[in-house]
Parts: sequence; structure tokens; C-alpha cells
Amino acid sequence: MIARGEWHPAHSSRAVTADLREIAGQLAAVSDGAMLACGPHKDIEITPRVGAIPRRLTFIDGSVFETRDNDAIDAFVSRNRGGRSGLVHRLEQFHPRLIAFTLAVILLAVGIYRYALPVMVEVALLVTPPVVPEMIAASTLASLDKTFLRPSALSQQEQDAIRAEFAPLAKNAKGGEPAYTLLFRNARLMGPNAFALPDGTLVLTDDLVQLAKGDRQMVLGVLGHEIAHVEGEHSLRQIYRVAGFAALVMLIAGDVGSGVEDILSQGGALVALSYSRGAEEEADRRSVELMKAAGYEPAALARFFAILEEKINDRSETSMLSTHPGTPTRQRYIREYAQQIEGTVKD
Ligand SMILES: [Zn+2]
Repeated sequence: MIARGEWHPAHSSRAVTADLREIAGQLAAVSDGAMLACGPHKDIEITPRVGAIPRRLTFIDGSVFETRDNDAIDAFVSRNRGGRSGLVHRLEQFHPRLIAFTLAVILLAVGIYRYALPVMVEVALLVTPPVVPEMIAASTLASLDKTFLRPSALSQQEQDAIRAEFAPLAKNAKGGEPAYTLLFRNARLMGPNAFALPDGTLVLTDDLVQLAKGDRQMVLGVLGHEIAHVEGEHSLRQIYRVAGFAALVMLIAGDVGSGVEDILSQGGALVALSYSRGAEEEADRRSVELMKAAGYEPAALARFFAILEEKINDRSETSMLSTHPGTPTRQRYIREYAQQIEGTVKD
């Protein structure tokens, strides 16, 4: 074993206690004898040593192994990479003043990221012409259709029925019904999911319709949630945040990590971006409101998260969980908010 630590799946805050091991010349994160992630050393990004900050090893699938055992990682790195163990760490040993300066720059960057970036994102949204979300959506959909998505296997009858029920839901959303287009796709890799593109295109996967087993209200609840992501311009916001962050990194380091570059250059990665917790909460609330306004069952979305939670141990469904973490808190919150707005109507 090289080090002990925690492993996090890609785009998830879930933590699994795991060991970092070297198996047949590859690095692997292992927990209870199960291999969580592995790959050759050269494909794994290891963060440089900065004081006592935990080291992060990013596997090619995006999952991360994190450990506080800096010495073990350094020993491993110097064994395998001829002693390059982090520029900042070497500077730290010889130039305390330079370290103070570096810390000041980092603090400044954190300040910009925390306070100035949100403002810049809002300004960018204000000046974004409508053609930008349309272009992003069109190229994203085109690349997804070439890779993950297949034509829907649902009958035309079923698609028409869902579209007919979707219309009243979209009617009360920003821009009204014409602002939203519902598409059906078969996406085995994505599992039961729905996602929104910034131009108002919503994609519903066959698996979600099948998972619902005729519970149409639940499907509509999920679509209401996705409408809210469009209304709130959440994906554009996320893109601008990533772009702003990349600009900041470039400013300081003179280079952008390849991961950030990928997100910026590949439209398909848009879907992999997870929204902030605030955006998710807003979308959950809005689903309740839109469902209520359409005369549907306001808290139907909660059932979707309940089913997701049942499947939490099924590893094939982890991608859906990472984009829609279905915590019990979230279900309770949706039900409470539904009760709350039902209550205000009765008064
Ligand atoms: Zn969402």
C-alpha cells in the first residue's frame, strides 16, 4: 500500500475510505478489496505539495483519491518521476518570503473568485446575445447525438402523450410554451435522466420514462426542474464561472489545466457540469411551483429522488446520482415547500 485516504467518484462529494496501491504497474484506489479506479502513473494528475494541504490524485475517469499522507506521495513520486516533487514545496523550504508572497497571490485570487467572479458572470449573462445559448445548445446536442444519444424507442403515441402534458407545465414558465422544446432520446450510458440545454431544449431519456412505470406526474416534476435550469440560465452561468476560473488560473499559472480546457472546448462536457447546490434548490422549488400552476401534483419530483435513493447502491446508476444527488433532505424539502404553497392558496 502506498497511502491511506478517501476516494471520491467523479462529480460527487461522496467519500469512500480507500487505499492507494500499486497493482501490476498501475496505481489503484482500493476499498475492501474492490478496485474503485486505476490507471498508469502518467495518466494520473497529482497535485503538488503545498504545506499540509491534502494531496489529490485525479484518475482519468475524473474520480479523485485524496490523502493527508504527503510523505508517502512524495516518496512515490520521487521513485517514479525522478524526484520532481512540487515546485511550491521546494520553494517553501528555501524561501519563506516567497511563500508569503505566493500566499498573498492565492488569497487575492480566492478573493477575486469569491467576490468579483459572480459579478462578472452576471454582467456576462446580461450582455449575452440570444444566439449564444442557441449555438451552445445546437453544438452540444449535435455532439451528444453522435456519441451518447440514440433515437428514442418510445412509441409516437407515448411521446405525444408526454408532450401534451408537458405543454401546460411550460405555459407558466418564463417565455411561455414556445420557449421550450421537449426531445426524447435513448441514452443507456446516462440512465434515467433529463437535462436542459441553455436555449430551452429539454432532453428526456427513455430510461426515465421506464423508471417512472407510468408515474407521469413524476416525469413532469423532473421536467419542471429542468425548465427551471433554463429559466435561471444555470448552465450559462456555470460555463461563465468555469471560463472565469480558467482565466484566473491562466493569469496566475500562465497555463490552464487540460481538464478546464476540455470543458471549454467540448460542447458535450456541458452536460457533465453539475449545477451548484443553490441552483438545484431553486430548480426543485420551481418544479413545485410550475407543477402546481399546471394543476399537477406539486411534490411529484420528490418521488424521483426517492427512487434514485433506493438505487444508491447500484453502481450503474452513479452518473445519475452525481448530477441529481437525491438526499432525503432534498425530498423532505420539496414536500415541505409543496405543503407551504398549498397552504398559502387555502388561506
Ligand atoms: Zn438539476
